[in-house]
Amino acid sequence: MTAIATLGSHCALQVLKGAKDEGFRTLLVCEKKRERLYRRFPFIDEFILVDSFKEVLEPEPQKMLEQNDAIIIPHGTLIAQMSSEQIESIKTPVFGNKWILKWESDREKKEELMKEARLPMPKKVSSPDEINSLVIVKRQGAAGGKGYFMANSEEDFDNKRTELIYQGVISETEPLFIQEYAAGVLAYLQFFYSPIKEELEFFGVDQRHESDIEGLARIPSELQLKNNKVPSFNVIGNSPLVLRESLLDEVYAMGENFVQAAKRIVKPGMNGPFCIEGVYDENAKFTSFEFSARIVAGTNIYMDGSPYYSLLFNEPMSMGKRIAREIKNAKENNQLDKIVT
Ligand code: AMP
Repeated sequence: MTAIATLGSHCALQVLKGAKDEGFRTLLVCEKKRERLYRRFPFIDEFILVDSFKEVLEPEPQKMLEQNDAIIIPHGTLIAQMSSEQIESIKTPVFGNKWILKWESDREKKEELMKEARLPMPKKVSSPDEINSLVIVKRQGAAGGKGYFMANSEEDFDNKRTELIYQGVISETEPLFIQEYAAGVLAYLQFFYSPIKEELEFFGVDQRHESDIEGLARIPSELQLKNNKVPSFNVIGNSPLVLRESLLDEVYAMGENFVQAAKRIVKPGMNGPFCIEGVYDENAKFTSFEFSARIVAGTNIYMDGSPYYSLLFNEPMSMGKRIAREIKNAKENNQLDKIVT
């Protein structure tokens, strides 16, 4: 009997609850320090206890996954804690396209795919001496915004970088990626593409709450500078958003373009959940600064179904359950090879 497995973090609860509801056995690769937390949830059938998630690559956990005929659902923690090469070397089938995860964590590749999908992006700034407007400085990978900072000149960039190195947040050699800051209403657009139905579904929208950039808005500007600290973009949680209905057509178009672009440049394409992340400006024009090529934690706000999925399904449907449903459909139709890599 097929089991659905994931790492104990990020959106594991939603994924395994959805899997259980669809009749699968559930398996959690769990760090020992978090065992107590996850034991609280009755829908987790089996635990693979590890000291660190990287152990999932070792023979013993691999054997357990194989014996359970497991399919791994990748999420942000997998990407944050393992290199693309390590993820690609996982023997257990991975839901979606494990090859596209490299395109998510490598900034150059990410830009290439977003360009191919014709997503409107903020301008890239190639070096600090070209900073002549407000920019955001980012790190590689899915660091969750930790250590990101804003700057408005080369000098400002140098000072903040030095401060972060001094604090041990970033290293001296770490390559940083500079992008124009796009101001507006944050919107993280969540999709699911089914290669079985050959259909794109729009699931929902969330906003991220990031500390301490968000907390700064509560401090009068004349007092902000006294707090001599470089504000970060560390994600603390998410909240729901619905869009003006007139924006939906463009949302679908962006999702479709992304799916088509991924099909062309990283086979088998963007299968399963993904997210296009950006802001809407005062003219409701969307600028996208990121994508995630797998389930995002922002879907956790819709564990009982999202507004847009309630229009497509006559039952509560979370993203975790949608993934499990896809696996169930694929198994019934002998099409598992279409949805895992
Ligand atoms: P990311 O790792 O690119 O998802 O970025 C983390 C956070 O930084 C986002 O959730 C945004 O709040 C912010 N951010 C990233 N890029 C930009 C940008 N170009 N303009 C404005 N905010 C951004």
